[in-house]
Amino acid sequence: MHILLTNDDGIHAPGLWALYQALREDHRVEVVAPEGEQSAVGHAISLLNPLRVKKVNKNGRFFGWAVLGTPADCVKIAMAEVLTVRPDIVVSGINLGANVGINVLYSGTVSAATEAAIMGLKAMAVSLSTYKEPDFSGAARFAARMVPKLPELRLPEGVCLNVNVPALPENQIKGVLLTRQEKGILVERYEKRIDPRENIYFWLAGVNDKRELQPGTDYWAVQHGYISITPIHHDLTHYDSLEVLNGEEWLEEVGG
Ligand code: MN
Repeated sequence: MHILLTNDDGIHAPGLWALYQALREDHRVEVVAPEGEQSAVGHAISLLNPLRVKKVNKNGRFFGWAVLGTPADCVKIAMAEVLTVRPDIVVSGINLGANVGINVLYSGTVSAATEAAIMGLKAMAVSLSTYKEPDFSGAARFAARMVPKLPELRLPEGVCLNVNVPALPENQIKGVLLTRQEKGILVERYEKRIDPRENIYFWLAGVNDKRELQPGTDYWAVQHGYISITPIHHDLTHYDSLEVLNGEEWLEEVGG
């Protein structure tokens, strides 16, 4: 299969390298990834800056293209200019850190997959649920098992997969669950600091793990030792609200 590989941790990230190694023997893998880290840039694209694209070699051989832009930029420029042939699938990752719950909205990793899905490509984002001493090998092997399945899945147009793998030895992973996105609010903490010129600044210091996770959600699954697969879609319309709001008086009133 012909695979476009990208991420948000940057083209030199160990997670991307692990995925590349796991896929390159059986597939044609083309890498187009951000030059530096682009975590938590969400679905941003570059409008005010030029998109510089540079060749990257590894071990003396051509490895891929580094883009001075966001993950969504990478998919766009790959499809428009860099790749000569449309790939069969797009894989984004492996991200350092889970992309579950509300974090899915902030994730550059997931947005690369979403961007591909918008373009009508089969795509998945893969994340490993740890920030400490990551071992990407198990998640890479799982992704390699998913890749041949992806084109066969009866996913509706525009839907891609958000895959999260717990940071456990493979024999301790309990299984694979299809999940929905956890919707609980994250409790964030900012650290207040003072710079050498005595100006106050703040730094996002951490997100407390939410205590009451809903069973069946992505967050719950990885916390309980399961690989989580969530089908996601870029249409942000809340359809139930259309039903609720339709025909209400205020709508005519504001309409004048
Ligand atoms: Mn990242």
